[in-house]
Amino acid sequence: DFRKAAFFQSAPTLATCPPEVGREVAFAGRSNAGKSSAINCLTGNGKLARTSKTPGRTQLINYFQLGDEPLYLVDLPGYGFAKVPLATKKEWDKNLSEYLYERQSLVGLVLLMDIRQPMKEFDTMMLNWAVEREMAVQILLTKADKLKKGPAKSTQFAVQKQLKEANIDDLVSVQLFSSLKKSGVEQLATTLNQWLQP
Ligand code: GDP
Repeated sequence: DFRKAAFFQSAPTLATCPPEVGREVAFAGRSNAGKSSAINCLTGNGKLARTSKTPGRTQLINYFQLGDEPLYLVDLPGYGFAKVPLATKKEWDKNLSEYLYERQSLVGLVLLMDIRQPMKEFDTMMLNWAVEREMAVQILLTKADKLKKGPAKSTQFAVQKQLKEANIDDLVSVQLFSSLKKSGVEQLATTLNQWLQP
């Protein structure tokens, strides 16, 4: 039950994440992709993931626990906000890739992309890391309400086609999502429940 999600712990790096007990799904996306809104929408908790974030603030991996079980939603640091020094960017990349590659309890990745700018460099980087590990990915084309139904569907099909051409459409699925209209939430919840099942 995603409504039972509660803040559990923050970690700056993989090394400081909680013990690898149970299962977790991670949420990633470029800054402003709508990640906080989506997590808040899924959990019905408007305050869980902060929607207003200060750019350049310490990047943290935030753990939310689902009830009393060792099941977690993991909010990965937003990415690509304004200009950060190259060294900082490399440090973030390193932390993210370590987390994605090495985290044993991680069972799936939710990758959020603004429907008006899908499959940017960060997105394909995250996709490649997840797929190399043969981990399932659910792509959310967020803010779907910003496009009319036809163009939204065409964007979804275009992304699906890209995945098929890259031969990764068995691991990676694409869906429309809008926190504003609360659409796509059921579909996301169904996928997450499948991933989190023992
Ligand atoms: P984050 O940086 O990825 O956590 O993004 P936020 O959740 O903070 O959202 C970034 C901006 O997009 C905010 O101004 C939100 O109000 C807006 N936003 C988020 N989700 C939606 C949505 O479903 N529809 C629309 N129209 N705007 C959204």
